[in-house]
Amino acid sequence: MPTNVEMEKIVSLCRRRGFVFPSSEIYGGLSSCWDYGPLGVELKRNVKEAWWKAMVQNRDDMVGLDTSILMHPQVWAASGHLDGFSDPLVECKSCHLRWRSDDLESDKCPSCGGELTESRQFNLMFKTFMGSTEEEANEVYLRPETAQGMFVNFQNVLQTTRKKLPFGIAQIGKSFRNEITTGNFIFRSREFEQMEVEYFVKPGTDENWFNYWLEERYNWYLNLGIKKDSIRLRKHAEKELAHYAKACSDIDYLFPMGWAELEGVANRGDFDLVQHAKHSGKTLNYLNKETKEHIVPNIIEPSAGVDRSVLAFLCNAYDEEPDKGDTRVLLHLHPSIAPYKIAILPLSKKENLATFAKDIYTNLRKHWMVNYDDTQSIGRRYRRQDETGTPLCVTVDFQSLEDNKATIRDRDTMRQIRIPIDELKTTLQTKLEGEDLFVLPPGGQIWKEG
Ligand SMILES: [Zn+2]
Repeated sequence: MPTNVEMEKIVSLCRRRGFVFPSSEIYGGLSSCWDYGPLGVELKRNVKEAWWKAMVQNRDDMVGLDTSILMHPQVWAASGHLDGFSDPLVECKSCHLRWRSDDLESDKCPSCGGELTESRQFNLMFKTFMGSTEEEANEVYLRPETAQGMFVNFQNVLQTTRKKLPFGIAQIGKSFRNEITTGNFIFRSREFEQMEVEYFVKPGTDENWFNYWLEERYNWYLNLGIKKDSIRLRKHAEKELAHYAKACSDIDYLFPMGWAELEGVANRGDFDLVQHAKHSGKTLNYLNKETKEHIVPNIIEPSAGVDRSVLAFLCNAYDEEPDKGDTRVLLHLHPSIAPYKIAILPLSKKENLATFAKDIYTNLRKHWMVNYDDTQSIGRRYRRQDETGTPLCVTVDFQSLEDNKATIRDRDTMRQIRIPIDELKTTLQTKLEGEDLFVLPPGGQIWKEG
């Protein structure tokens, strides 16, 4: 069964523990804008890092890119965003709710029956001005997707990397859409981060590659712990397809508000390169050295939302357990995305023990994000780490000073082992990689709590 966690619980945990704060909170916040706190920024970085590892680092056929948010205005003419990236908007004169007029069946407000304004095309791109004068010639847009930065650099990447088809370009970055409706916490906001790949293939092989990427991306979520019954593939109907797409499927997650898109995988055909060649006057194609043939590659685009992934991982990980008349809240985050991998907890603040524990802390933090916590009771500290998803806690006590051993506690099972400090780094490493806690290093023993 999917975890039926309410969104309020996630929002409250995020606020309480420092994952996500409302933006500009001391001024009352700014609608649909969010700030990632000390733990949120680690989680988000780890999600992006896991994606980069899978998509770039571990592949021969992929290179990365980081393009600017502001681009030449012609880019958006070529891409179709200037004309096509708009929704017909009407506003209710009484309650001021805004609607897409093509969704409405009557000319009255569906909410209060009030009178509606004239319909106008509302472009979802944020417009701003470059330089010191606000005139039309200086109009630029905040990019509504990172994709275009990769299309316009197709030739640059090809020339500098000598990649052969099929190959891909990967990019992570912020995008901006002035959505008519936002909401569901960090699920839909006007400023958001994307993880996108543009994968260039020979025409005719595009359908196979489309299926390949759909499966590859679906498995990426499963490998990071997303429960199988909380994720699904959904093929777009013909009328849902964007103007550029030959085919598109969504990877949906079962969020508290229902199934919603986590990532879209699209077969864009040759639309983008053809459009940019036409508008720029430059040649954007690929020379097949064997056949001496110039071809325009087709493009498969797996496009994921960082913020949505973060929210999905949080919802997926959230758990509550009865605990001696109380409730233990914990996040079963996959170790590779957990904000802290390890917490060092000295049983007392006494100086000799503190020095001993700090030593361990200093050594381990070279390898992982490690948290040091010596305030309040050990029970309270374990709960705090559970609630923020720290997979392993290392506890040192006064006996440690004599036998040079420490205790490792597992977040999910609360089981413990006691091992020599010399074995600590290697053992933590193997446990974070998924080895069973009770596989013991030399000199290790199973430990009972309390
Ligand atoms: Zn109304």
